[in-house]
Amino acid sequence: MNTRGFSKQQLEQWDDRYVWHPFTPHSIYRDERPLTVVAGEGHHLIDADGTKYLDGVGSIWCNLFGHQREEIDEAVREQLDHIAHSTLLGNTNDRAVILAKRLLEWAPDSLGKVFYSDNGSTSVEIAMKMALQFWQQHDGGAENQRTTFMGLSNAYSGDTIGAVSIGGIDLFHSRFGPMLFESVRGPSPVTYHRPDNQTRADAEQQFVDQFDATVDEHGDELAAVVIEPGMQGAGGMITYPDGFLKHAAQKVRDAGALLILDEVAMGMGRSGEMFACQREGVDPDFLCVAKGLTGGYTPVAATLATDRVYEAFLGPPEEGRTFFHGHTYTGNAIGCAAAIATLDIFENDDVLAEVRRKEKVLADRLEPLWDHPHVGDIRQYGLAAGVELMADPDSRTKFDSVDRIGANVCCAARDKHVFLRPLGDVIVLMPPLSITDDEIDQLVEAIEYGIDEVVDL
Ligand SMILES: *Cc1c(COP(=O)(O)O)cnc(C)c1O
Repeated sequence: MNTRGFSKQQLEQWDDRYVWHPFTPHSIYRDERPLTVVAGEGHHLIDADGTKYLDGVGSIWCNLFGHQREEIDEAVREQLDHIAHSTLLGNTNDRAVILAKRLLEWAPDSLGKVFYSDNGSTSVEIAMKMALQFWQQHDGGAENQRTTFMGLSNAYSGDTIGAVSIGGIDLFHSRFGPMLFESVRGPSPVTYHRPDNQTRADAEQQFVDQFDATVDEHGDELAAVVIEPGMQGAGGMITYPDGFLKHAAQKVRDAGALLILDEVAMGMGRSGEMFACQREGVDPDFLCVAKGLTGGYTPVAATLATDRVYEAFLGPPEEGRTFFHGHTYTGNAIGCAAAIATLDIFENDDVLAEVRRKEKVLADRLEPLWDHPHVGDIRQYGLAAGVELMADPDSRTKFDSVDRIGANVCCAARDKHVFLRPLGDVIVLMPPLSITDDEIDQLVEAIEYGIDEVVDL
């Protein structure tokens, strides 16, 4: 049976009947104009009716260099002439070896080992499990009291139980309270929604002070602190005060805890450096990488760890120091081949310099939006941005969430052949790193058009 070439209508009917979508309220799913993607070409998604849409969120933040990118396609096809998959449990494969070596060449000097998994949530949970076990068996003598993890409010590290436990987005997390483990919740860097009598500088200082106080209060119990460098992504594209990561890293170190940086969203070039922590000059104990690692092709994630951490897991097997964690598809060869091709593109196309240039282009194009009567805040870090829509920015009045303004704006942007997906009323821009200047224009125009279509001025 040829399974291609079904009509959009037929596919929609079967989609409604058979598929349960992630993060999707199904009662309104069909009304919000979902695409039925049948192909992708460069920076565009192609719908079953043949319409092309500019992929403004890089297929949820993972596509770096477009769809059907020749070098990655070629690497995947070539890998199929060798092997698709074999296990990494007590065993290895050439692609996983080469990728680890190449990744570590790009990573901060503090990191010496790569542990693979297959999504961002697991990459963070692995770092947490490693940190917990590290404290039981590190060479300075066990510190078994270090069993607590600290995260920040509005943090997002994924949807599995451990990742949710450390996260700080109540909308995603509150339902699952009974099955989560306790963690310490630090403050959120959000400064836009501050009280009227507070300046932004004061709000920023308050955030830093609260962070410090939380670390001080729990210092001796902390196994590790988890931070998303650069920007809290899913929490609403929230930026940090300048210099915060560097300060926080020192604070965590002084408390004797380990630092886990979740770069699932901001790693892989988004910041203008390969990893956002490099832009801030910070050397973490763990670095979690996923989304863009394969250029957005297949699910491969990596938890990078220091040699110090790794060495605490060495010893005769009967001592039980082994890290007992692994997934069936860990180190998948097709995925690793795609990731190696992705790193090749970084080298061959001088991607990071281009991202730094386009960061300015995006900032310039977004600048006029500040004057829009329903734009409250614009937050950008590297080639990532969030435009926060407000009913009345002057009085900081939000839209009623029932109106789904963000979702409707993104829906309207489809008229301009742009695909976007918001976070509440924050319109997210996470385009492929290879996006052109003209396409950046098109994205920003589509947002403006979308707002004006949806909101009565
Ligand atoms: C998306 C994301 C995750 C989770 O990654 P999945 O692959 O969706 O499990 C974790 N951390 C951050 C910062 C993310 O943006």
